[in-house]
Amino acid sequence: MTETVTDEALREEVRAWLADNWRPEALKTRDTSGWGVSEEMKAWLAKVADAGWAAPRWPVEWEGRGLSDAQARIIEREFAAVRAPGTGQDRTNLWANTLLSKGQDALKKDLVPKLLRSQVNMCLLYSEPGAGSDLAGIRTRADLQGDHYVVNGQKVWTSGAAIADYGMLIARTNWDVPKHQGISFFFCPMKQAGIEVRPLRQITDESHFNEVFITDAIVPAGNLLGELGTGWGVLQTALAYERSVMGDGARGPRSGAAEATNEDVLIALAREAGVLSDPLLRQDIAKVIAYKKLNALNNARAKADLAQGTSSPLMSLGKLAMSRILHEEARVRTAILGAGSLLEGKDYPRAEDANFLTLNAYFTSIGGGTDQIQRNIIGERVLGLPKEPEVDRDVAFRQVRGG
Ligand SMILES: Cc1cc2nc3c(=O)[nH]c(=O)nc-3n(C[C@H](O)[C@H](O)[C@H](O)COP(=O)(O)OP(=O)(O)OC[C@H]3O[C@@H](n4cnc5c(N)ncnc54)[C@H](O)[C@@H]3O)c2cc1C
Repeated sequence: MTETVTDEALREEVRAWLADNWRPEALKTRDTSGWGVSEEMKAWLAKVADAGWAAPRWPVEWEGRGLSDAQARIIEREFAAVRAPGTGQDRTNLWANTLLSKGQDALKKDLVPKLLRSQVNMCLLYSEPGAGSDLAGIRTRADLQGDHYVVNGQKVWTSGAAIADYGMLIARTNWDVPKHQGISFFFCPMKQAGIEVRPLRQITDESHFNEVFITDAIVPAGNLLGELGTGWGVLQTALAYERSVMGDGARGPRSGAAEATNEDVLIALAREAGVLSDPLLRQDIAKVIAYKKLNALNNARAKADLAQGTSSPLMSLGKLAMSRILHEEARVRTAILGAGSLLEGKDYPRAEDANFLTLNAYFTSIGGGTDQIQRNIIGERVLGLPKEPEVDRDVAFRQVRGG
């Protein structure tokens, strides 16, 4: 079902609603762990969803308004103009989009509204100690027993697992077919005895990701997404959403230090450090700004593809570009600060930020698929180069030697 409204009436309606409801002063987005969503943010997201702004492209029965992409973008522009979050989730909410397109009705009814309101925490149970880039090589297994699956195996690098209510899990359900064909995709309940989460310490000294040990964990049969054995296809849908979000931007400095207002961050930093007239630094800064502008245009193009229902290999371009931008931006920050970048801690937050961003740039160049893997995807799917040889592609997984 769709709603008929003129662009002008819609714009007025959103503006009036935001004027009545949006109170940015009160909104802290993150909880005290820095990983979960704050209570204030949840309350705001609930308001946005109740008013039908969270996913306006979706049908009314799924809390949407059945609006066209062009009209949904009017809403997004109005939200962006006042820096209000919460709309456009029909493009960006990885969990809700994957569940809505591939899930069973009862699970969708239960979880889609909660996902739009961030009332459930999620994580991605994909990578394993022996399966990261070669994700189709997973060895975690799910065996059907009556009305549920019993899951055994180990996952690793699982961001947010410590606070997650559900994990989007890929597990092997058939060992007698080639590796891509025997995988299924589940919403796995995390708060149960069969799931043990052990935090890992990261290069940034944070612990956002974890090892997850799974021993006879129970997943109801209704939590299967897509058909049994088609999990690889469901995963591609989910990965496309993930890469689109990762290509959009990245975390800022950990200190939360006030960044430049309208001026580019690097220009402001160079001005403050008294090196804005250095010709080499000026070239470096200009290069980073040009990369950012190009990447924004590329992302817009990729999202237009996605909106038309094709999973876009251009997404890989955006994510790869963002990874390069983040590394380069951190390098230029460090160069601007010169020897001062060796200082750490509260006494010199500029250096603290530069060092954090240098380390954190690896988040984007590894997480969600490494730069090398993105290059393979671009080579094969965008440029049409020959595929990488894969000797185990057509072999029953049971016969593939484990690493
Ligand atoms: C910050 C962060 C958060 C993450 N969060 C999650 C999460 O929430 N859930 C989850 O499941 N996983 C998560 N990951 C894991 C991430 O997806 C994997 O680390 C990534 O896919 C790489 O796998 P790997 O670590 O096993 O490296 P490997 O696959 O072992 O790769 C090692 C190196 O070899 C290169 N390489 C491998 N194969 C090829 C090839 N065919 N061609 C060229 N080069 C190749 C890689 O590029 C890399 O440099 C996260 C990772 C990071 C860094």
